[in-house]
Amino acid sequence: MLPIRITGDPVLHEPAKPVGRITARIRALAADMIETMHAAPGVGLAAPQVGEPLRLFVWSWREDEATLHEGVAIDPELWITPTPPGPADPEEESEGCLSIPGERFPLRRSEGAILRARDLEGRSYEIVAHGWLARIFQHEFDHLDGVLYADRLEHAHAKAVAKAIKREGWGKPGLSWTPGVDEVEA
Ligand code: ZN
Repeated sequence: MLPIRITGDPVLHEPAKPVGRITARIRALAADMIETMHAAPGVGLAAPQVGEPLRLFVWSWREDEATLHEGVAIDPELWITPTPPGPADPEEESEGCLSIPGERFPLRRSEGAILRARDLEGRSYEIVAHGWLARIFQHEFDHLDGVLYADRLEHAHAKAVAKAIKREGWGKPGLSWTPGVDEVEA
């Protein structure tokens, strides 16, 4: 289980570096990230969230009984459709982040995305995603550029998340929580 860095830690706010060659260390990191993501629980986790400034993320999201989306994205590229105008719907468009644990805020995202990346065997693949999967890809890809969803919120929600971060004593380097060890209100 890996400790998950909390907002304010520099690794979350800086662009990550390409993975390049897929070594045993990278495979072990991905395996630990998958375990940590499931334990959190979360639907995605990016390497900077566990203190590794590398362009790698994992995801696992069950759309319905028959459909499980999961994978590992190494050195990904992401194309997105234009973001629809207007305010985000708190019912349909609220998202959270394991690096801002226990909080959720509405954020408008692109409805469609194309992910191109390599898997752990180094094979290139492409996924055309819509809806929540497209949102997960946008959220995780942002982490690789040092962007948190909190950085993208509309004014009122940005104020609310800043207040929550202050209340919890976050927003400074060195804070983390470990799934299964630290209690976090979901
Ligand atoms: Zn996140």
